[in-house]
Amino acid sequence: MDTSRQTQPPRRGQDPRKPGAAPRPTGGLDPDAWAQPPAPARPRPAPRPGVAGSPPFEPPISAVGPLFVRRLERIYSWRVAFNVDINTRPTSHVLGGYYRSRRLVRIYSHDTKDGRRPLSELFDTFLHEVAHHLEYTEPQSFNSKVCRRVRGRMHSRLFWQILGELKFRWAELQARS
Ligand SMILES: [Zn+2]
Repeated sequence: MDTSRQTQPPRRGQDPRKPGAAPRPTGGLDPDAWAQPPAPARPRPAPRPGVAGSPPFEPPISAVGPLFVRRLERIYSWRVAFNVDINTRPTSHVLGGYYRSRRLVRIYSHDTKDGRRPLSELFDTFLHEVAHHLEYTEPQSFNSKVCRRVRGRMHSRLFWQILGELKFRWAELQARS
C-alpha cells in the first residue's frame, strides 16, 4: 500500500523549486538527459512500524521496475515504449533522470546517507520521469501539438499538467481500492 506523503503538488505551470535553489549540476549525464533534483524540504517520513514492529514490505530491487510499470498500466496507456533502470548507485542530490535518446527512465534507489529510499518515494520519481517521456513522445495526448519544453527550463507547463494527471489517476485508484 502506498501512503501518500507527498508535499502539495505544484500548481499548474509553476516550478516548485524555490527561487535561488538552482538545480545542482549533474555531471556525467548525457547532454540530452536531465536529472530530477530532490523536492524542496521534503521531510523524510519516520519508518512506519509494520505488524509486530517488522519493517514495511519492500520488494527486491529487481522487482521494483516491473512493479512500477504494472502500476502505470492501471492508470495510463502510453503509446511509445520506454525502458526502466533502477540504479542502486547511491546518490545524494539526484533521484532520477530521463534519457530521451534511449527512452530510458532511470531511478536511483539508494541515498548516500540513508540507504534505500522508500518505495513511495521511488514511485514518485518514476511518475516524474514518465511524465518527461510522455511530454516528448505524445504531447498530443494532452492536447498539445508539440513538446512544450523550453530550452534551459526543465519543466514546462505541459510537463506539470501531465504529471498532475498521472498523480491524480493514481490517487484516485488508491482511493477506490
Ligand atoms: Zn524533471
